[in-house]
Amino acid sequence: MDRRDFIRGLAATGTICAVPTRGGAVAPVSDPALAAFIRGMPKSEYHVHLEGTLEAEMKFALARRNGMNLPFADVAAMKASYVYNDLPSFLAIYYDGMKVLQKEQDFHDLAYAYLAKAAAQNVIYAEMFFDPQEHLKRGVAMADVIGGITRARREAERQLGIRSQLILCFVRDLTAESAMAALDAALPFKADLVGVGLDSDEAGHPPEKFREHFAKARANGLKVTAHCDVDQADTLKNIRTALTDLQVDRIDHGGNIVQSPELVAIARARGITFTVCPTFSGTLRRTEKVPVDVVRAMMDAGLNVTISSDDPAYMGSEYIDDVLIRAAERSSLTRAELVTIARNGFAAAWLPAADKAAMLARLEAYVKQA
Ligand SMILES: [Zn+2]
Repeated sequence: MDRRDFIRGLAATGTICAVPTRGGAVAPVSDPALAAFIRGMPKSEYHVHLEGTLEAEMKFALARRNGMNLPFADVAAMKASYVYNDLPSFLAIYYDGMKVLQKEQDFHDLAYAYLAKAAAQNVIYAEMFFDPQEHLKRGVAMADVIGGITRARREAERQLGIRSQLILCFVRDLTAESAMAALDAALPFKADLVGVGLDSDEAGHPPEKFREHFAKARANGLKVTAHCDVDQADTLKNIRTALTDLQVDRIDHGGNIVQSPELVAIARARGITFTVCPTFSGTLRRTEKVPVDVVRAMMDAGLNVTISSDDPAYMGSEYIDDVLIRAAERSSLTRAELVTIARNGFAAAWLPAADKAAMLARLEAYVKQA
């Protein structure tokens, strides 16, 4: 058993909830036919943090371009430092890594690199998160952040055929004032945004802290989603607040909802979609002696589940195909269930109905001939 399999074993038992690895090598796939089906399937992705796609190689390139020194000898040493055992220890690494993003071109290059990888894996549509507060506080202008990403989005659509939209995330453990300042700075560019979200450390920062922000975003025509990370303190209370008070359009993660039949019923009645990232939070642990398989439990509860890659640069460089293959193995997903997950994705897209129908038709055509 190599180190990667050892860590996977820990993750599978819920001893840790993430899969820190040293490289991009992927473990053998037990069902090559299912893996090939996944790779060929037209897909969409709704829970990917652009800053979480910042690969170590690009960090070094951007640091060089921006005249910065990084405290690592090489890529291998940097990747070896990606060891975390909970959300706060992950976030410390994640925020430190994004300091190399300084200029419009950096944000362009970051977004284009992700979109190129996604397009190569038959992702035809992606809604991507970004964390502008972290950049504003380093003196980067919002125009450079959104401008660089938007330029990359347009180029990728034209050159690679992948369509995408952008979701501004509030960093919940910074102040409410800082989040409002970021929203105000972004509103002049609202035509380049599709929604707002809520991410980072949930402990002590419940969704209601951002009630005004979400209301203002909605008043400006933006959609609303929120992270409800797995196994957080007050997790069911926070899911309830997000669903019934803030009236979110979508929930990111949210696996603990399976512990509340009442909340499951509310989510089902509202047709809420959950963007699940099994690489980071594939199991529930807090209240269960035996870890609960989040994807399986949510699907069995009749919830609309989609699967995404979250922060792939920090999770073994596993992008959507590998995440889906791993999820299929771990949760014993059938081909039909994988198609349902893909359909859920296109159905949840924040796009006009005709555009969603066209994407769904591409999926159905693939399924028919596969
Ligand atoms: Zn996330």
